[in-house]
Amino acid sequence: MTDRQNRTGNAVILKSGRDKPVRQRHPWIFSGAIASLPAGVEDGEFVEVVDAAGAWLARGYLNRRSQIQVRLLTWEQGEAIDADFWRRRLAAAIDLRHTLPALDGCNALRLVNAENDYLPGLTVDRYDDYLVLQAGTLAIDRRKAMLAQTLLELTGCRGIVERSDMAVRKLEGLSPAAGTLAGSTPPETIDIREDGLLFQVDLVHGQKTGFYTDQRTNRRRVAAYSEDRRVLNAFSYTGAFAVHALRFGATHVTNIDSSVDALAMGETNLRRNGFDPDRQAEGVAGDVFAILRDWNDEPEPRFDLIILDPPKFAQNQGAVDRALRGYKEINRLAMRLLRPGGILATFSCSGLVSADLFQKVVFGAAVDAGRSVQVLEWLRQSPDHPVAITFPEGEYLKGLIARVTP
Ligand code: SAH
Repeated sequence: MTDRQNRTGNAVILKSGRDKPVRQRHPWIFSGAIASLPAGVEDGEFVEVVDAAGAWLARGYLNRRSQIQVRLLTWEQGEAIDADFWRRRLAAAIDLRHTLPALDGCNALRLVNAENDYLPGLTVDRYDDYLVLQAGTLAIDRRKAMLAQTLLELTGCRGIVERSDMAVRKLEGLSPAAGTLAGSTPPETIDIREDGLLFQVDLVHGQKTGFYTDQRTNRRRVAAYSEDRRVLNAFSYTGAFAVHALRFGATHVTNIDSSVDALAMGETNLRRNGFDPDRQAEGVAGDVFAILRDWNDEPEPRFDLIILDPPKFAQNQGAVDRALRGYKEINRLAMRLLRPGGILATFSCSGLVSADLFQKVVFGAAVDAGRSVQVLEWLRQSPDHPVAITFPEGEYLKGLIARVTP
């Protein structure tokens, strides 16, 4: 097919001067960069992308309903998007995980990290012998049965289930979807190992795809500070940070979460690893903001190590200011609950809040709390959640380990 045929057939034509990000391999094209869309291509199907002069740039998939009208799959004109294409990309993502260090003793990990593995819209996590797939876009949603089958063939896993309940699906015109896509249906809970520790994961009702594997490397780093310390694990979910802390010699851990189910599974996780949830731990159900405020009224600070791992506070640009106030407030409260020389491990998983901005917020919290804060470590998402350097949006999790003194 010649460039001219592309242009009149199934090509998206960019506005003049808007081709640079595409040439630099950013995978998204927003409506504002597009001069014209092809009439004959259905949403969810493939398009060619050409610049204002008609020169071929890339190939991807279309969804007119989304602000991100095109997501790009290849910049090689000779590379067709066929069954073999998907198999190659999936195999490359899986191969990368085989080369990652320090995954011994871990059988829960992200296998496909969407745009960052050059598979826009597709997220796949592995839990022992089962896979969980999230289809974030219409084009992926349409192909999920084929992708699931290929994933089973490539991994040898027993089954693959869907947990496509992310808010972003709405922007693609999709409603939530769940169920078994290929192979056998997993049991409701399965046991996974992380650094040799055991955790129960609920693939059907758990948050996201069941477990926060993006924090794996950070759980190790933070736990290394827990010897002989009383630990508060705020926004604990199923208490993974707490189990790691006890393994590293914490004297006591307190989990706080608004989800009673998550706290219950947290108790199971403590027992599974040989810890006593009555003597060595406590689970507090409720709102972290309110609980930390209550404890701030007590005369003596309670903790030597506090972990703050809140959910994504900034869901969109309009919510960033409010999110920053939330981060500042929990950090201020936590700093005041630490004994002199205590350690704060604080995170943000809002992609819209940069690492630099997050550190400024923690600085603001230190000023308001009247504490001296020394940053000891800067943390990011674990390496099974790679960031394609062409796609800075892929970087979302950031954290600090800091020493706090009056
Ligand atoms: N640290 C966890 C992951 C935390 S995810 C891990 O390593 O697995 C964020 C958690 O915060 C969720 O479990 C959610 O139920 C909880 N949550 C959200 N808002 C909350 C609030 N205001 N107070 C208490 N818990 C909250």
